[in-house]
Amino acid sequence: MINKETCGPVYRYEVRNPDYGVLEVNHLSMEGAIREAVRQWGADWRTTACDCTARKLGSARKPRCRRCGREFGRPGDYAAYCPDCERVNEQRRKERAARKEDRRAGMRK
Ligand SMILES: [Zn+2]
Repeated sequence: MINKETCGPVYRYEVRNPDYGVLEVNHLSMEGAIREAVRQWGADWRTTACDCTARKLGSARKPRCRRCGREFGRPGDYAAYCPDCERVNEQRRKERAARKEDRRAGMRK
């Protein structure tokens, strides 16, 4: 299904509120950015959203991998690791899981 909330370019918005201050969020739409800011502030949507103003800062930056620091994917993606590092992480998880099984096998002897 194609709709405004889930498709299209992601932008960086600066959302401002007299009580909560300023927050920068990535979103597809200005309304979505305000909703996201209100959520992150843990504020009440019905009362707080009315006081919010949002300003488009420009295109959202691409995510930067936490492991290798490389930019990857599409702007506004929330992934923490690039696909390469994700594969390495997955490999490590498998190795750790395999070691655990070895230890259990050892206990049975
Ligand atoms: Zn990486």
